[in-house]
Amino acid sequence: MNNKNRELWLSINPFVHLETKKDATLLYNTLSKKAVVIKDKKMIAVFQRIHTSERGGFVISQQEYESDLFQKLNNLFRKYHFGKIYTINQQKEPFVFRNELFFEKNLFDYSGDKNFTAYHSKDLFEEMLQVNVYVTSYCENTCSVCHMAAKQSLFCYSDNSTSFMSCESFHNIMQMLYHQDGVINILGGDISKYPRLDRVMAIISAFPQKSVNLFLNSTILESTMNAISSLIPPNLSFVLLFNSVKEYKTFIHSNQIPMIIIKKRIVLVFSESDLLEMKSCDDAFVMVIPIYDGSNIGFFEQFVYINEKDLQDKKMSLEDILINKKMNVNNYGIINVFPDGTVKTNFNNRSLGNLSEGLENLLWREMKRKDGWMKTRTEKPCSECVYQYLCPPPSNYEIAIGKPNLCTIKP
Ligand code: SF4
Ligand code: SF4
Repeated sequence: MNNKNRELWLSINPFVHLETKKDATLLYNTLSKKAVVIKDKKMIAVFQRIHTSERGGFVISQQEYESDLFQKLNNLFRKYHFGKIYTINQQKEPFVFRNELFFEKNLFDYSGDKNFTAYHSKDLFEEMLQVNVYVTSYCENTCSVCHMAAKQSLFCYSDNSTSFMSCESFHNIMQMLYHQDGVINILGGDISKYPRLDRVMAIISAFPQKSVNLFLNSTILESTMNAISSLIPPNLSFVLLFNSVKEYKTFIHSNQIPMIIIKKRIVLVFSESDLLEMKSCDDAFVMVIPIYDGSNIGFFEQFVYINEKDLQDKKMSLEDILINKKMNVNNYGIINVFPDGTVKTNFNNRSLGNLSEGLENLLWREMKRKDGWMKTRTEKPCSECVYQYLCPPPSNYEIAIGKPNLCTIKP
């Protein structure tokens, strides 16, 4: 066959992430980590054709190949190893594997069908990575961050009620999770006011193989320590919560650091100066969490919002991108259990139901709703953006700020 009549096959390499929208196409090479955004309308049309092609590519003639459009494309493919254009045997078009995620058991397809048997409840329990147990929402303190912080990050909160989780419910949770890998975090309220704190500590001790974290606000540290000091089980670690940099610094300089296993210190920051102050602290256990307080949007725009350079410099594997398409890594595997037994996958989400209905049933409900563990960037403007799955999944900051996207790309 002479060159004039030959046919060529055009396709994207399987390790390349292709995202094509109305006005732009993104090509991201997951091996070299190079990203290119294309705005040329004719090129976008070619990529849309590849995207919708069942065989992962299509055939072009020699004449098309020689056109400016396909020469430009070929140069782009060669420069970044995005794809290939090569001569094919007319009888046999090649097949290119699409870079889709093939789950052996496709939990993500569950739609509430009772006959869905590919996944079992036992497997579903194994998906639980973190259980946050709010044993009480009672607290007499009046911290200004209360509720605001818990809506954005894992933090204590009070709702002015005198709600306490029953010891039986707490025992059931420990028992359910004893043989799972998931982390258990205990939060309040003011835990020192829990009427049967001795019983809670005894329950934790009864499950020695399971490590448990107790999240404790520094403002109630002393009273809690007085209440539990003689009862602390060896499998209990502490995460200290600081409402501000000032409170953290006072604590560090107070020489009153209790003799307990402190796993982490979480400090809330609200401004650039808070960040700078924390930068100068040489504390390997500290973790700073930015909090939106309604007046510091400038701080968020500067330090939290994502920009185009951040995205183009991102080092993502194909697996990371495919995971972003299917699940929300901020929420996945997390459940929150409130003092009255209410269960939510995210603090801000609607309730899944009550623990008394059986955790298994509630988890299946979550699998059907897909608004927590599987909340991805499917809303506008993200659904129309080429960075849709390069971007981290939606977080609680979007909810607190009241915007579906925290970026400078589509303000
Ligand atoms: S200690 Fe925690 S729960 Fe109590 S008021 Fe302060 S932030 Fe809220
Ligand atoms: S947040 Fe949404 S709109 Fe902004 S870059 Fe990410 S995907 Fe695009």
